[in-house]
Amino acid sequence: MRSVAKRLKKFIREGDTFSRLGGDEFVIVQADPNQDPNFTIMGQRILETLGQPFQIGSREFFTTASIGVAVYPVDGDDPQTLLKSADTAMYVAKSRGRNNLQYFSDDMNASALAKTDLESRLRHALSHGELQLHYQPLMSLGTGRISGVEALLRWYDSNGKLVSPQQVISVAEESGLIFPLGEWVLKTACTQAKAWRDAGIPAMRMALNLSGHHIRQSNFIDRIETILNETGITPSTLEIELAENSVMGHVNDSIMALTDLKVRGVNLAIDDFGTGYSSLLYLKHFPIHRIKIAQEFVRDIIHNPDYAAITEAILSMAGSLNLSVTAVGVEDPVQLDFLRKRGCLEVQGKLFGSAMSAEEMTLFLKNPEE
Ligand code: C2E
Ligand code: MG
Repeated sequence: MRSVAKRLKKFIREGDTFSRLGGDEFVIVQADPNQDPNFTIMGQRILETLGQPFQIGSREFFTTASIGVAVYPVDGDDPQTLLKSADTAMYVAKSRGRNNLQYFSDDMNASALAKTDLESRLRHALSHGELQLHYQPLMSLGTGRISGVEALLRWYDSNGKLVSPQQVISVAEESGLIFPLGEWVLKTACTQAKAWRDAGIPAMRMALNLSGHHIRQSNFIDRIETILNETGITPSTLEIELAENSVMGHVNDSIMALTDLKVRGVNLAIDDFGTGYSSLLYLKHFPIHRIKIAQEFVRDIIHNPDYAAITEAILSMAGSLNLSVTAVGVEDPVQLDFLRKRGCLEVQGKLFGSAMSAEEMTLFLKNPEE
């Protein structure tokens, strides 16, 4: 902190105020911006200066910074509002990748407010049982039968409008609601799996999505085990899907937890494979059972030769590494034919059924031919 402050001090002129607001946040108040109205250049210089390695003792440290700029009086005509605007702009800078500078804009306020509003509505929905899981069939091309279902979150807000799952997950991750939400998903999906089994439907896989945050939460694996015990679900019928980036970005933190899951018999799938930056070496080190080819590739395999080549490469690599593969987003027979010919053994997509409510899925499972 002291070294950072020392470097920042160089940018302070007479009459300016410079302080540490708390944590790792610093504020520079320029008393007379007319002297040097170009904050962008100054901001760039600050980023460059802080980007130089810090030598502390015999070790080198690296920092990044995010800068938010608010200008009096347009962004606030009292100190509190002005600081709040700078803070909002700083968070936007952070979310757009570090080492970034953003000027405050009214849109940011609107979007920050919309987020807070969505967060409180989601909190309410979660505690009042207003969330649902829908289920999408997973089709085995080997047997021609359903091999399982993937549980997908659905939230129809008080106006009956579907809030996109990605939006829900992103707000939940930012607010910490992801933890109770993940637990609810697990419980609901396992309870449903038990209900289907009790109704005489042959045992099949229940796949569900979790966020990387869970895997790094210390007691989560125990919670999974408790829920499996409470619902009487065989661990090997549960498959947890984690997006490629949420695992690969935190390799060391994730590997222990994922190994622990595997030891307890739960299978693991890497979702959206191909869109992130997987190290192929880690694929072998991680206890992964399956990879799911991102819908993004499958959608265009017929018309985009690059996507066709990537899909082929993923299938062949998975074959060599002995990993199962599911292709997501299969909508027409031509795509299906392409995948089948290249050895893909499981698909998921509109061609075989979109996500449907638990009741609809029960009928689907009882009468698969209809
Ligand atoms: P995902 O895990 O890759 O799920 C597959 C998505 O592809 C689902 O979107 C599904 O409805 C869609 N899909 C499947 N087949 C087709 C098709 O043939 N055509 C088209 N156009 N779409 C198809 P959905 O339900 O909107 O979910 C989006 C993402 O949100 C999921 O991607 C997953 O990453 C996340 N998500 C959904 N539910 C949960 C959850 O309970 N927890 C967490 N952490 N994430 C979830
Ligand atoms: Mg998934």
